[in-house]
Amino acid sequence: MNLFTRLFQRRRKTTLDKMELNISPDQAEKMLYMIQNTQEIELTCDDVHGLLDQYTEMAIRGEDVASLLPLVHHHLDMCPDCREEYEALSRILHAI
Ligand SMILES: [Zn+2]
Repeated sequence: MNLFTRLFQRRRKTTLDKMELNISPDQAEKMLYMIQNTQEIELTCDDVHGLLDQYTEMAIRGEDVASLLPLVHHHLDMCPDCREEYEALSRILHAI
């Protein structure tokens, strides 16, 4: 199981369950691979919020989030709201 499958399953527990989507991990992986490799697709703020805690934890561990989650990274560059959210979360996680 790769990182994106894990991220997706983590999201399903929070947001996607409410929408009653029924996507297998295999489909999820393909979908995320597609998203990952298609620059025209951009994440929404909701998408980013769903991934932000994971992204922040990875960044704090010193992982290369710009390569691993480029769409989140790109969104944070472009979106002041999410950037603020990220910085707040980052401060909280650093304080623990
Ligand atoms: Zn945003």
